[in-house]
Amino acid sequence: MANVFGPVPSRRLGNSLGVNLVPLKTCNYSCVYCQLGKTNYFTNERKEYYPTEKIINELEYAIKNTTLNIDYITFVGDGEPTLHSGIGRIIRWIKEKTNFKVAVITNGSLLYLNEVCNDLLYADLVLPSIDAPDERKFRLINRPVMKIRYEEIIDGLKLFARNFNGKIWIEVMLMKDINDSREDIDKISKIINSIFPIPERVYINVPIRPPTEKWVTIPDKRSLMYAQEKLPNAIPINFREEGKFDVNKYTNACEAILDITEKHPLRYDQAKEIAEYFKETIDEVLKKLQKEVKFVEYDNERYLKKLKNKNENTF
Ligand code: SF4
Repeated sequence: MANVFGPVPSRRLGNSLGVNLVPLKTCNYSCVYCQLGKTNYFTNERKEYYPTEKIINELEYAIKNTTLNIDYITFVGDGEPTLHSGIGRIIRWIKEKTNFKVAVITNGSLLYLNEVCNDLLYADLVLPSIDAPDERKFRLINRPVMKIRYEEIIDGLKLFARNFNGKIWIEVMLMKDINDSREDIDKISKIINSIFPIPERVYINVPIRPPTEKWVTIPDKRSLMYAQEKLPNAIPINFREEGKFDVNKYTNACEAILDITEKHPLRYDQAKEIAEYFKETIDEVLKKLQKEVKFVEYDNERYLKKLKNKNENTF
């Protein structure tokens, strides 16, 4: 399988060439808002889920062959990237052989380990998540595999921040009636303010794509405004990503849509654009894919989602 994808439009990182280091839903969390669905492979084991050399070769090929501008090479994808023990070597390869900037989107849970901190030191930008105000909500929202306490994870992040020369942008996923009360936002703010140096940006995210749990919804404007006022260096990203997917590498619309929906639900209008790029109609494409994808409605939008097994209902 391909471990390098895109460049794809990203709301924070412009055109991002994605690197996926782990099989689908390999993670040490099973977040209620995850857009990839429930965690299949719940693990805290660091290893080479795919051969490091293969990923470097793929990256080299993708960099040579893409026709779009690349703003960042971003470690993101089907699970938690720091679970791959070769991540440090791949980052060093990018920094030694190319001029691209490197971003790592991580849940931040393994930064308490020295080896993980060292692996990420050469990145330009690290984006860890802080969604919970305390231990109880950490277990409710992120549902971690490990016994480690939330406090230790935050301590790991603080230590990393002191030694890291790049930028840290925190991501906070705010969800209605889960962590959007004033009390919770105040506690999250206190945690972020205790990191030194204070992270350059704090992105206030909301679940814009269909989440794992149906009861997860977007908070009201009032909570978002309060969070924007209270969190340091806050930037809301409660808007949709714009821009086109680079679908050059695919031979037809079905292949492109299947590959993208493997990573996350795809908006209907974006699927239609992809079909038109390959001079097909969206109806023809959906007919061919009727056993592979399904429609889900979320926040007044229609999304295409890849079926996990062929017995799931289709459209
Ligand atoms: S949102 Fe990220 S950290 Fe949470 S379960 Fe999904 S992949 Fe893992």
